[in-house]
Amino acid sequence: MPELSLKRIFGGRLMAEPPAPAAAPAPVAELVRPHAPPQAAPPAADPARERVINVRFYTDYPVCNYKCPYCVAGHAPPEGRPESPWSEERYLQVVDNLCKLDFPINLRIGVGGEFFISKVLVEGARKLAACDHVKVLNLITNLSFHPQQYARILKGIPKEKVALVASYHPTEVKSADAWVAAAQELATYYDLTTMSVAYPPALPKLREIKEKFAAVGVDHFIQPFIGEYEGKLYPQAYTEEERAIVREVIYSRHDYEFLLNLKKPGLCNAGFKYLFIDPYGVVKPCGGAEHGRILGDLTVSPKIEFLDGPRPCPASACQCDTENIQTKVFEDHYAWTDKNQHRFAYRFADEAKTSPWMDEWKVPY
Ligand code: SF4
Ligand code: SF4
Repeated sequence: MPELSLKRIFGGRLMAEPPAPAAAPAPVAELVRPHAPPQAAPPAADPARERVINVRFYTDYPVCNYKCPYCVAGHAPPEGRPESPWSEERYLQVVDNLCKLDFPINLRIGVGGEFFISKVLVEGARKLAACDHVKVLNLITNLSFHPQQYARILKGIPKEKVALVASYHPTEVKSADAWVAAAQELATYYDLTTMSVAYPPALPKLREIKEKFAAVGVDHFIQPFIGEYEGKLYPQAYTEEERAIVREVIYSRHDYEFLLNLKKPGLCNAGFKYLFIDPYGVVKPCGGAEHGRILGDLTVSPKIEFLDGPRPCPASACQCDTENIQTKVFEDHYAWTDKNQHRFAYRFADEAKTSPWMDEWKVPY
């Protein structure tokens, strides 16, 4: 799965300021999912994890072996992929300077294609993993290789430093069962979570897909579709009935509000506790909005100037899952449960057992 927010900056079809959602969010009292799983015990917020700076380095590596119909990176037929600023030499320059940073980072290396096709991307990851201050490498894949091939490709990188997200793309995969089995095997080697897109034609199958993964103990999260289908712009165009389906399978209230209802983000830690590096090596507060701030240039030096606190988000919505989890509202209500940037839990699940108004789906959000 490619990453979304760069499309807004590098000229994709998506708009800088998505229009307001067509349907008003459901009233708070209605937000209890009919089949909500039992609340997990609240995570102990780990202060060490919370001091680590999340970083997304979007490389725009443009090659993919799939052609998903909903691909935001432009691999969907019939269009060709837009021109990419990807440069191996510049990627390695940025890696060199990332290795010289003097603060701990949890790094996500983003692509506009499939990460594991590129030997250069992997070599850069290997170099980064050898640095003490690089605590975690979050990598994404479409899981089109055999699980043991991932182990071979990542040989030499400590397993405890790897967090993987594998995207399930049903139109490109021959056997769902074989893919789920591969995910199950890969999860025994590495920290793994899986995801799929609530593409309108796939909606009737979403619950079944989620249950398949749950049955083998593999995390699976489902994200609303962002883009055009049959002339309509999503997620705005989801009907009430479709919204109810997505709400039932979605990972969290946070995802529901940001990715389906396009909540206005408010205060955000971008540039303060989070950094974004664009394909040119330029460091910015985030990749989802134009802040007019350059915080550094990693093709030149490792020097980065952080913002001194959270700032109001300049955008009307934040649809990149890596970035909207940098908002204050996320920080106040959720905590990462481990190194994977995609795994987090509601902070007040325990309190909600005795104070029902504190339920994740009932609190004002
Ligand atoms: S796996 Fe699919 S969604 Fe991801 S980059 Fe390739 S074509 Fe696009
Ligand atoms: S919410 Fe934060 S990360 Fe998202 S677009 Fe706004 S400032 Fe950027």
